[in-house]
Amino acid sequence: MTVQEKAGDKYVYDFAEGNKELKDLLGGKGANLAEMTNLGLPVPPGFTITTEACQAYLATGREPDGLAGQIETHLEALERGMGRRLGDPQDPLLVSVRSGARFSMPGMMETVLNVGLNDRSVEGLARQASSADPDSSGSADRFAWDSYRRLIQMFGKTVCEVPGEQFEHALDEAKRAKGTHDDLDLDADDLRGLVETYKKIFAGHTGREFPQEPREQLDLAIRAVFASWNAERAILYRRQERIPADLGTAVNVVAMVFGNLGPDSGTGVAFTRDPGSGAQGIYGDYLANAQGEDVVAGIRNTVPLQELERLDPKSYRELLDIMARLEGHYRDLCDIEFTIERGKLWMLQTRVGKRTAAAAFVIAGQLVDEGLIDLDEALHRVNGAQLAQLMFPRFQLDHDFAPVARGIGASPGAASGAVVFTSARAVELAAEGRSVILVRRETNPDDLNGMIAAQGILTSRGGKTSHAAVVARGMGKTCVSGADGIEVDVPAKRFTVGGHTVAEGDVVSIDGTTGKVYLGEVPVMPSEVVQYFEGSLDPAHVDNALVRAVHRIMTHADGRRRLAVRTNADTGPDAARARRFGAEGIGLCRTEHMFLGDRRELVERLILAATDAERTDALAALLPLQRQDFVGIFREMAGLPVTVRLIDPPLHEFLPPLEQLAVNVAVAQERGEDVAKEEALLAAVRRMHEENPMLGLRGVRLGLVIPGLFAMQVRAIAEAAVAVTRDGGTACPEIMVPLVGAVQELETVRAEAEKIIAEVVGDSGVEVLIGTMIEVPRAALTAGQIAEAAQFFSFGTNDLTQMGWGFSRDDVEGAFFWRYLELGIFGISPFESIDRDGVGRLIRIAAEEGRAARPGLKLGVCGEHGGDPDSVHFFHEVGLDYVSCSPFRVPIARLEAGRAAIETAGSDSR
Ligand code: PEP
Ligand code: MG
Repeated sequence: MTVQEKAGDKYVYDFAEGNKELKDLLGGKGANLAEMTNLGLPVPPGFTITTEACQAYLATGREPDGLAGQIETHLEALERGMGRRLGDPQDPLLVSVRSGARFSMPGMMETVLNVGLNDRSVEGLARQASSADPDSSGSADRFAWDSYRRLIQMFGKTVCEVPGEQFEHALDEAKRAKGTHDDLDLDADDLRGLVETYKKIFAGHTGREFPQEPREQLDLAIRAVFASWNAERAILYRRQERIPADLGTAVNVVAMVFGNLGPDSGTGVAFTRDPGSGAQGIYGDYLANAQGEDVVAGIRNTVPLQELERLDPKSYRELLDIMARLEGHYRDLCDIEFTIERGKLWMLQTRVGKRTAAAAFVIAGQLVDEGLIDLDEALHRVNGAQLAQLMFPRFQLDHDFAPVARGIGASPGAASGAVVFTSARAVELAAEGRSVILVRRETNPDDLNGMIAAQGILTSRGGKTSHAAVVARGMGKTCVSGADGIEVDVPAKRFTVGGHTVAEGDVVSIDGTTGKVYLGEVPVMPSEVVQYFEGSLDPAHVDNALVRAVHRIMTHADGRRRLAVRTNADTGPDAARARRFGAEGIGLCRTEHMFLGDRRELVERLILAATDAERTDALAALLPLQRQDFVGIFREMAGLPVTVRLIDPPLHEFLPPLEQLAVNVAVAQERGEDVAKEEALLAAVRRMHEENPMLGLRGVRLGLVIPGLFAMQVRAIAEAAVAVTRDGGTACPEIMVPLVGAVQELETVRAEAEKIIAEVVGDSGVEVLIGTMIEVPRAALTAGQIAEAAQFFSFGTNDLTQMGWGFSRDDVEGAFFWRYLELGIFGISPFESIDRDGVGRLIRIAAEEGRAARPGLKLGVCGEHGGDPDSVHFFHEVGLDYVSCSPFRVPIARLEAGRAAIETAGSDSR
């Protein structure tokens, strides 16, 4: 006996013994069959073998002790209840053997129907069918032989791995011989012949005869269902859906009922509301004279469920009653499988049904109206990923559009436009009113204008935190990054992909949700939910169930959440949009984004300054521009906190790339042109070149090395705050120092900043906080010291992940994360969702030690994780005060912060 097996373990439950709460043990199907049985609904009798039995089988390769005996006992009870014995030659009981795991894994595992049929009981089944309806003796024979051939086919395929095509081929042959395409035209003799052929196929493949002993059939079928948990497709599905690999499946053994007994029999599926839109009503399909797998296989065309009212009004009415009862009982949309056997309705399955994102919101709202659930429950039943889906424009892919390449869905949405390869060309074509897609190997800060002008961005390199991805997300612009099937040739103004050449001006379409790239224009639909957030759709006046439901649930989330939600924004317009989306401040204003465009020249002057005077001049020229930037943002945020981060990236990012510059200089020298300025620039670029710029001269290091740089920014922030206050407004600036690893760095910057602030704010009443990012692991580990010098911490989880894992944030996702995901080293990129165990631990330590040193220390997060649903729950748990994310993710963070609050409240009260 192994650890999995304990003497006296109960491995088999009669349907009457279970209930819907026992999904872990009985699987979803078994638990719900038990629930329906106990509700008194017409469920064929049966029993469930537990997931624990499956786990034990998979661990040891054999059934756990006691299982066989328990199956025997429950089978006998089933036989007694039905008044028939399994496989009895005269009057056989037949059973189905169905998988059913904790989480639904549609079509991934196995089912065997009609277990109990053999060469003798097939005759008994025919007699049984004809005695129930003496007029149908011909069709009863047909039915029995059809059931038998289905058993051999399913059993052969599932239990003995006989290739399914061999059976299908034989069935096609039989139909061809008969001159028909329809299974129903095969009569009892044809099917008897087909059974012989199937048996030969079975024996040919397995080296043994098809088993005639019913109990052997049953045991082998149960084992095959257990084993199907580890079928390749099931493993892949679980990985994709993040279903744990060790749950195992339950097995349901159910008395067969037959939908293929004639025109007054049939089978169908039904939904209690429309799973596509959430609309109330009855949705489903029905197929007369068929077994369940015929519907799935699409062998014959189904009819809409409403047709059943005409075909069998009594069963239809009963079905509607049951559906209403199930909805009331489960307090949710249910999906249902049923069979009608000669006018008698049987429920074969029910579960809380899958639905689209729109339906999830609409149904949650409806159920509140109907008094079935409260608003907390409604909030719990939707999520940020669904809201995100609803916020992006979508392609209408009703035509046959096949993608030509696939990259990383870096910033969701759908965009079509003419391909351009440079930022300048993007701006030109956009000015002509054309929609453009900017295609680059990767983007850099120089591309910003082109990115603003473009409808979407496509790169062949880079991951989810590459420049293109982060900036595009910030703008709410569609971006596919790292589409490495694409070869970009900028000088030739074209890219090639899978044998196609796409030249400048050709139209492509990119889907930033799926990462797919299409040639030509795919039509796009705008999002109503964004129109609502933007304020152009008023939920009180619009007849749109989705908008009303989103409004109601968002309002509830806002009332419940503890985390504040801020935004990452660097411009007045971005800040204004984020406020409309519900942002309660700015958690990260990246000031380096303000040094682009026509200010580059000034930055170049600053970098190239040979003397103190030249540098002071350049900084003096930048000061009023920066002041103007901050005035714009403070005005937009009207008294809400604004965290301004002092400049972060390496300065050489503002200079032309080394190789390109070296070539230009060499060519110009060859031509005898005056290149003194370019040579100076080249020398500066060479001087500043770093092998690992992400770990080089950036952030606070830059501020400590270039005199006057941070001072200029601090002065501009303080002056802007004072100017806004003098105009009657309110400004709440928070100056944030990036990349701090040691308290001494912060203390040095702070001492200088405090002097400037005191001088500028005077008695204006303006208060300026000074805090730091925690994005270097050393800062997290010395947070107690750093908190002495910081009025707030903001976790820069992009860099904290980069440096915590040692993963270059610009390279690794495209380079090798696929392998890490495949190996299960992580289930999702740690740049996308916070790695709770490692990076998350650094955050916990910093939060605890920071607050121990300075009680009430304000804590936020401003890395990309601030808008990731799962990470928001983590930040709630750790006790942060706010999350900050790109404007488009603000509603998602609000929703998830509300969900996190009710979930914690729920677990506290348990
Ligand atoms: C971070 O590192 O998480 C952060 C917000 O800073 P940036 O992305 O600008 O490096
Ligand atoms: Mg950073």
